[in-house]
Amino acid sequence: MTNKSRRDFFKKTASFFPAFIGMGVILNSCDSGIENSKSNESKNEKKSGTSCDDLSGLSDDDLATRKKLNYVEVSTVQSKTCKLCALFIPSKEGSECGTCSLIKGPIKPSGSCVYWAKIESGSNV
Ligand code: SF4
Repeated sequence: MTNKSRRDFFKKTASFFPAFIGMGVILNSCDSGIENSKSNESKNEKKSGTSCDDLSGLSDDDLATRKKLNYVEVSTVQSKTCKLCALFIPSKEGSECGTCSLIKGPIKPSGSCVYWAKIESGSNV
C-alpha cells in the first residue's frame, strides 16, 4: 500500500467513524427503551396486583387462608371454577387474573376452592 492510498484509506475510515458511534448510541438507546418498557410493565403489574403468580403482597395469614380453603389454580371440576363462582371478581384491567371476595391475592379464573358458590341469576357477571 502506497502512502497516498494509505492516506485515502484513513480519510475514508475516519469519515465513517462518527457514523459508527452515532449508530451505537441509537442502538443502545433503543435497547434501553425496550428494557424500560419491560420494567414499567412489570412495575404496573405489581402495582395493580394483576400478575397471577405475584403473591408478594400477601401476609402469612393470607397465604395460610389460601391454603386452608384449598385454593388451586386449576379446578378438577370444570363446572366449579372461580370464573363461575359468585365470589369471583374479574379483572378490570384486562388481566387474566381476577380477585375474590373471600381470599386475598390473585385468583385464576380456572381455579377453585372449597367455598365455591353458584352464581345466582342477576349477580356477579
Ligand atoms: Fe375461587 Fe373460591 Fe374465591 Fe370462589 S371463593 S372465586 S372458588 S377462590
